[in-house]
Amino acid sequence: MLDVKKIRLILELRESGISDSNILSAIERIPREKFIPDNFRNQAYDNIALPIGDNQTISQPFVVAKMTQLLEINPKHKILEIGTGSGYQSAVLSKLARRVYTIERIKSLFVKTENIFRELKISNIVTKYADGNLGWKEQIPFDRIIITAATPFLSKEILTQINDGGIIVSPIIQENKQVIVKYKKINNVLKSEIYDDVLFVPNLSGTE
Ligand code: SAH
Repeated sequence: MLDVKKIRLILELRESGISDSNILSAIERIPREKFIPDNFRNQAYDNIALPIGDNQTISQPFVVAKMTQLLEINPKHKILEIGTGSGYQSAVLSKLARRVYTIERIKSLFVKTENIFRELKISNIVTKYADGNLGWKEQIPFDRIIITAATPFLSKEILTQINDGGIIVSPIIQENKQVIVKYKKINNVLKSEIYDDVLFVPNLSGTE
């Protein structure tokens, strides 16, 4: 049953403009049901966000795929993710890049995802419990940065921890709505492009 639903989801993503076959294949290989609570498992391959506890959500598969596609990842890339949440987006990225560094500010989610990555034998994700807006200075620079919680602006740390030529993708709050923005750093100048409307949980400071 899950397999039929999974194939349907992959087709739906392709029809919605996810043309990169490496991304579709990464989504096919990652068992999304492992990243969500038991009572929602029958909806694991519906193209919707789902609750994961602590008032947080696992992102909608289309949004995961879209943001991943905007990142233009290659297998040599070192990626920073802010907002591990369920760990699903990190797992998808781990199939496409060399290493993923992911930061979560809620302790219970951080602990849960460490166990899932271990269970799935994913060894190229490094996790950290902290406020992600401070970045991860011991691991700089990053080729790509993805932020999966909505913010009105990017922190100074994020802007300085990305490589020249690097790409940052984040939901940005603009005039009471959220949009996905892709930033490219070229000769130390950020160029931005605006994409789809989205609905993410807020990006908050500090830890809990
Ligand atoms: N990438 C996730 C999306 C989870 S929702 C997934 O695939 O499931 C966003 C997550 O960002 C939440 O878990 C929230 O606690 C976390 N978050 C919000 N602000 C943060 C910050 N400043 N630093 C680290 N994590 C943050």
